[in-house]
Amino acid sequence: MPKKVGFIGLGAMGRPMSKNVIAKGKYELTVYDLFDKAVEELVSHGARAATSAAEVAENSDIVITMLPNSPDVEAAVLGPSGVLSGLRPGSVLIDMSTIDPATTRKIADAVHTKGCRMLDAPVGRSTANAEDGTLLIMAGGDEDLFEECKPILSCMGSDLVHCGPIGSGEIVKIVNNMLTGIIVTANAEALTLGVKAGVKLETLLQVLRSTAANNGHLHATYPVKALKGDFSPGFAVRLAYKDMNLALSLGGQLNVPLSVAASSTQLFNMARGLGHDNHDYTSVISVVEECAGI
Ligand code: NAD
Repeated sequence: MPKKVGFIGLGAMGRPMSKNVIAKGKYELTVYDLFDKAVEELVSHGARAATSAAEVAENSDIVITMLPNSPDVEAAVLGPSGVLSGLRPGSVLIDMSTIDPATTRKIADAVHTKGCRMLDAPVGRSTANAEDGTLLIMAGGDEDLFEECKPILSCMGSDLVHCGPIGSGEIVKIVNNMLTGIIVTANAEALTLGVKAGVKLETLLQVLRSTAANNGHLHATYPVKALKGDFSPGFAVRLAYKDMNLALSLGGQLNVPLSVAASSTQLFNMARGLGHDNHDYTSVISVVEECAGI
């Protein structure tokens, strides 16, 4: 009998990921989102619609959540008509959202009281990778459960990494996004400074790519998109800002100084205030340019 899978959160990432679960796996899929149109789209691809997160869980052996932030996952799992109230003993919850690891652990404890198990499995890379099923998946939780879940995770990702106990996937993902957020803001300031001082952008890129300043964005994102004023996401400023704050919060809890990350976070905050919330996070360069009068 095909395994029954539930998917909650059919946004920029969840929509293509859930389509891949249908296309690549032999699963019966039940879906739910607060946004009816997103559900209708998945139904047209062969999914069954549910009217609540609880109904998804009642009909699933594996429930996947792909939601914006910690309060959204808490609401969808622990809230009224949430996943927890519908979970059948023996079922598995896989939360693929990027959230606070403390919330992950709180939800995992609640899931265990129902005789169920949980993995955190946030994803790296972009919406394009979500579409072609080549996401990087960073999982936390019991290693045997991770092995058991590989077939479903492989529908969505090409690189699956077990990071440690529950919450570890989130920790690795937050560390990764903190570093890439810092790199994006550092690129924005360095390139703007060089250009304002009169050096050609191509010359700057040629040199920076061949020194210790080299980073992936100098090869791909900037020349192809950001420097041409194309700020279509990609990875939205609002999500980058959220992830920087997750890192700052974790640093605060653990007494780790994150002064560079704090400064980068403020640049993303400025970008939000200037209307870039839904633009790609490389749009911070336009904030620096504007301040520099370019
Ligand atoms: P999104 O805002 O595009 O989609 C979220 C979806 O969740 C929306 O359709 C919304 O209606 C739905 N939703 C919110 N609360 C709900 C609830 N209680 N019940 C049911 N549905 C609910 O977000 P996204 O870009 O798909 O990102 C999802 C997660 O993946 C985030 O944690 C994000 O940080 C992470 N992520 C995003 C990217 C990216 O490039 N977009 C890349 C890697 C990781």
